[in-house]
Amino acid sequence: MYYQKYAQQFSNYLTQLVGKKVAVIGHLRPDGDCIGSQIALVRILNSLGINAIALNKDKVPESLQFFVKDTPFAHANFIDYKDYIPITVDASDTTRIGDELKNLFPNIKLNIDHHLSNINFAETNIVDSHVAATSELLAGIFLDLNIKIDPITAEALYLGIATDTGQFRYGMTNAQVFSICTQLINLGASPPLTAHQLYERESFGRILLLKEFLGTLKLELGGKLCIGTINEAMFKATGTNKEHTESLVDYPRSIDTVIVAAVLEERPDNVIKGSLRAKNDAVRVDLLAQHFSGGGHASAAGFSFQMNLQEFYPLFIQTVKSHLSNLNLL
Ligand code: 5GP
Ligand code: MN
Repeated sequence: MYYQKYAQQFSNYLTQLVGKKVAVIGHLRPDGDCIGSQIALVRILNSLGINAIALNKDKVPESLQFFVKDTPFAHANFIDYKDYIPITVDASDTTRIGDELKNLFPNIKLNIDHHLSNINFAETNIVDSHVAATSELLAGIFLDLNIKIDPITAEALYLGIATDTGQFRYGMTNAQVFSICTQLINLGASPPLTAHQLYERESFGRILLLKEFLGTLKLELGGKLCIGTINEAMFKATGTNKEHTESLVDYPRSIDTVIVAAVLEERPDNVIKGSLRAKNDAVRVDLLAQHFSGGGHASAAGFSFQMNLQEFYPLFIQTVKSHLSNLNLL
């Protein structure tokens, strides 16, 4: 058994869903874990005779479309689903699903997640921040309950685990992660195919964006903080969009001296979308993100904050500086 307690909780919950229609809702800017969890949960519910569909404000990014196959997804006309039972996956709070879905579903019934900053906002919450990915939690639950997992579901769950562990590199990559992945591979997931889809199908524009982005990197706080910026002009010049910024933060993160890495993306209407990563277990980028109305995990977090970059930049450095000083890391 991987997650006996959660498996029991999920199994009890399933009995309430019989004969009902379910909306499996993901977060804004969906990543591999979000889409993987949605694909898997929708397919499992459908296989159990429960009518389910995935709902997302933002479209499935190009790089993840391969994994969807015939799984039903909707990105518009949400009103058609207002009578569905809302379940969120991989969302730490309800603002993460976007205003439109939040307003349509003010009371989330089930919240399945692994974010440290999750505030248990639903009627039933299956949340564990010690789990590497929401997909890992779901995979463990399905395996514990001996629910039949089809190859598309196995691949989607593997996708979520592989991406949220940074290809099995980040802190929560442990024996259980590999044990669950072994089972998923036996059920049809393919690590080389997943890696090929994710990392060997870049557009040339995305590489040009990376080139522009690398040119913006600046070391601050004696090399412990590295900040890169992205703006609309770069998207225009390279024929890319906000979808293509995924994992750019790994480049500043990879620098030896860096403890905190940040990508600050200037959005139109003076909003800054921040992506933060920590490389030291004591550092809490979720708390840094909370200063700017965001959240996430201890070592990977994000925010959207209304301010222009010139004003924000020094404020951000100051915030990181105090955090690192309090931890005696400066
Ligand atoms: P990313 O940097 O890849 O956009 O996000 C890193 C982590 O922080 C993800 O787990 C994501 O769910 C969380 N995150 C990103 N942006 C926000 C935000 O605006 N608010 C909150 N609460 N979490 C965020
Ligand atoms: Mn996740």
